[in-house]
This record gives sequence, C-alpha cells and structure tokens, in this order.
Amino acid sequence: MQSQRLIGRSAIVTGAGRGIGRAIALAYAREGARVALVSRSAEELTTVAAEISANGGIALVCPCDVRDSAAVNAVVATVVAAWGTIDALVNSAGIPMVAPTVELSDERWQQAIDINLNGTFYFCRAVGAVMLEHQFGTIINIGSLHSFQGIPMRAAYAASKGAVLQLTRSLATEWAPHGIRVNCISPGWIRTPLQDSLVAQGKLDRAPIIARTPARRVGEVADIAGPAVFLASDESSFIIGEQLVIDGGWGIYGFL
Ligand code: NAP
Repeated sequence: MQSQRLIGRSAIVTGAGRGIGRAIALAYAREGARVALVSRSAEELTTVAAEISANGGIALVCPCDVRDSAAVNAVVATVVAAWGTIDALVNSAGIPMVAPTVELSDERWQQAIDINLNGTFYFCRAVGAVMLEHQFGTIINIGSLHSFQGIPMRAAYAASKGAVLQLTRSLATEWAPHGIRVNCISPGWIRTPLQDSLVAQGKLDRAPIIARTPARRVGEVADIAGPAVFLASDESSFIIGEQLVIDGGWGIYGFL
C-alpha cells in the first residue's frame, strides 16, 4: 500500500461540498490529513464528512460564505483551536459566470469577484497568518483556463480567475522564505455539478471541447485531486508560485 503523504497534516478545503473541492477533500483525508470542509451548504458538507469518517478519517464541518471575511476568520480560528495549526489550504469555492458583457449587471460582476477572488484572498490572508507563525504550509488556489486565456462571455469569471493566478504568484514570493508554498491549479473542462449546470442551461457544449482535447474526453475530478495531493505534499517542496494546467492538452493543441 502507498504511504499516506499527508499524514499528521491539517487542511482546509473550500468548496468541499461537491465537485473538485469535494474530491480534493476526500483525497486529502485518504492521504492521512484532517480536513476542515467549507461551503455554504452544511448539508453537503455533512455528507462529505460522513464519507470521510466512514473511511476512518477526521473531518470538521465549517459552513461559511467565503465572501464574509469575518466568517472566514472565524473558521480559521475554529480549525486552529481544534487542531493547533493549518498545514494546507485549498481554495476551490467558486462560481461560473457566463454572459454577454453588455448584459452583465453590476451585481453579477461583483458576485464573481466576491466569491472567486475576494473569498480566495480572505482565506489566504487568514490562513497565511497561521502558517507564518509556524513557518510552514502549502496553499493551492484553483484558477482556470480563463486565468490566462481569452474566451468570449466570461469577462467577470476571467477577471476573477486571472487575478487568482496573480494573487498566487505574489503570495508565493512573499511567503516562500517563510516555508509557505503557494501554487495554482488551473483545471480545464472538468465534469462537475458546475459544468453539468452550464451544459443544462445551454451555455456549454461538451462535444467541441472533446473534439479539440487530445485526451478525447473532459476531465474528471480525480484528475485534479491527485495533483492537488502532490502539490500539498513534500514531494513538491521546490515548486513555488507555479500554475499547473490540467486540461488533457486542450490549451496546447495547435490545430483547430
Ligand atoms: P461546483 O461543483 O459548483 O462546486 C463549487 C463549490 O464551491 C460548492 O461546494 C459550493 O458550495 C462552493 N461555493 C460556491 N460559492 C460559495 C461561497 N460563496 N462560499 C462558500 N462556498 C461556495 O464547482 P466545481 O466545478 O467543483 O468548481 C470548483 C472550482 O474549480 C471553482 O473555483 C471553479 O471556478 C473551478 N474550475 C472548475 C472547472 C470545471 O470545469 N468544473 C474548470 C476550471 C475551474 P455552496 O454553493 O453550497 O456554497
């Protein structure tokens, strides 16, 4: 059996109720970490926590809206009170935003920035303070292909995810001398409830995506969870401020 790479570590995973965050939380627990689960839906988090417990792991249910910095600080204080420190943070909470730009209301623009960018910043700031005290930690922010590529009707989403990548790079340079590694995973097209909802609304068509992807499929959450374990483990100890694009080759394909 493979040794557990995160044994003894404590982690916070946002967006842990479903999709990519859920898969990462389950993978971290399998690798021996205690995992604090964050999203707005306590019900979804309780289900994930039960799954972790059933497999012998330890989880803490921490319902929180990442837009509320006071609530974020309270979650971080709760986890530190329970486990002493926080060794790993994954910021996966996020929402899509697809709209013709001239129809994008102030509210919807703000919603994407508040959840995808500000929520990531609030957790980085609060957890970073704890990690600085201990001079140790890893942070993984979830970006997107939209962090660095232009795709129509994604103005708010792209602005928020591009900023997440630059936030990652800035924090990485500031905190690496203190033993804290900050990296970004930018997933391509991954089958999750978020993607399913875009397909159901007619805002996304999987067929042309699959046709352009050299791997000839969309990604699955396991494709992200494995690399997220690697980036939180000591195996990646010299990887700092990087963006790991996981897209089955969609981005580098130079034909269609
Ligand atoms: P998902 O299935 O919709 O899951 C999103 C998670 O984020 C849920 O647990 C949701 O729970 C939580 N969340 C949303 N708003 C929140 C808020 N205000 N406060 C706290 N939690 C919140 O999405 P996913 O596909 O797994 O996406 C996860 C991340 O990957 C996102 O950042 C997304 O932008 C990024 N991404 C996804 C893809 C893809 O193809 N799926 C590609 C590139 C990047 P509640 O709604 O209950 O709060």
